[in-house]
Amino acid sequence: MDKNKKLIVIKYGGNAMLDDDLTSELLKNVVELFNDSMKIIIVHGGGPFIKKNLEFAGIKSEFVGGHRKTDSNSMRFVEMALKGEVNGKLVRQINNLGARAVGLSGKDGKLATAEKRFHFNEKKEAIDLGQVGDVKNISPEIIIHLLNNNFLPVVTSIATGDDGLDYNINADMFAGHLAGEIKADEFIMLTDVDGLMEDIENPETLITELPIESIDRLKNKIIKGGMIPKTDACKIALEKGAKTAVIINGTKPELLLKAVKDHNQFCGTKFIK
Ligand code: ADP
Ligand code: MG
Repeated sequence: MDKNKKLIVIKYGGNAMLDDDLTSELLKNVVELFNDSMKIIIVHGGGPFIKKNLEFAGIKSEFVGGHRKTDSNSMRFVEMALKGEVNGKLVRQINNLGARAVGLSGKDGKLATAEKRFHFNEKKEAIDLGQVGDVKNISPEIIIHLLNNNFLPVVTSIATGDDGLDYNINADMFAGHLAGEIKADEFIMLTDVDGLMEDIENPETLITELPIESIDRLKNKIIKGGMIPKTDACKIALEKGAKTAVIINGTKPELLLKAVKDHNQFCGTKFIK
């Protein structure tokens, strides 16, 4: 791969995607970086879109400890929401802005394989959530081909397991594994808050730098809910070989440019290895 071009993996969260104007501002900035000769990969989630799609289909999900159980019928609708709706829309918007986007899931070119992930309750019992998985393996060849030919890959976090079933993988974790595997120069997670905060209610408690060895100690205390896979993903990315990892606010589109171009500027939570 062309080593002179900066390689950036951007995880774009479903919650930061809900406002169309902000999404298009953000994508304009993504394309600006792309036009600035950077290699960009977007990995996206789409929780709110999955929820809407399942409701629309009249599917009543069972929740275990706050986690949605995904049976094979639900998985069809998860894929329609993520790969059909969200991925298709991001690709169209990026293309309209002048770059050439290619929409993929982990299945394409066998980019990723999945394995079933169990949820552990307070009693440490393994709970089966159906087709909810972890990344087992990443083979980034397809992504490298696309980047080397000036395409912008847009990846949705679904992959197939050795059992032949499709799995819905948390997009943060998918992105973290990919960023680590391809040794990204920057791993940038865009979400709907300014970063990890000591007190979610008080933006002044933003943690601007966090050593990855502190993550486990803060889990379920400061690091809760959606921040658990995000911090784990940053840790995996840095451990596997990504050079930097940050969580920033994707609903403030200017922060993306700031994070990439002006490294010393404070803009979210930066993870330190
Ligand atoms: P995304 O779609 O970007 O993955 P999530 O909802 O999964 O978004 O994760 C972001 C959310 O994590 C925030 O909106 C916030 O409600 C929650 N959260 C939990 N703990 C914290 C924390 N300590 N600081 C900031 N946000 C937190
Ligand atoms: Mg999330």
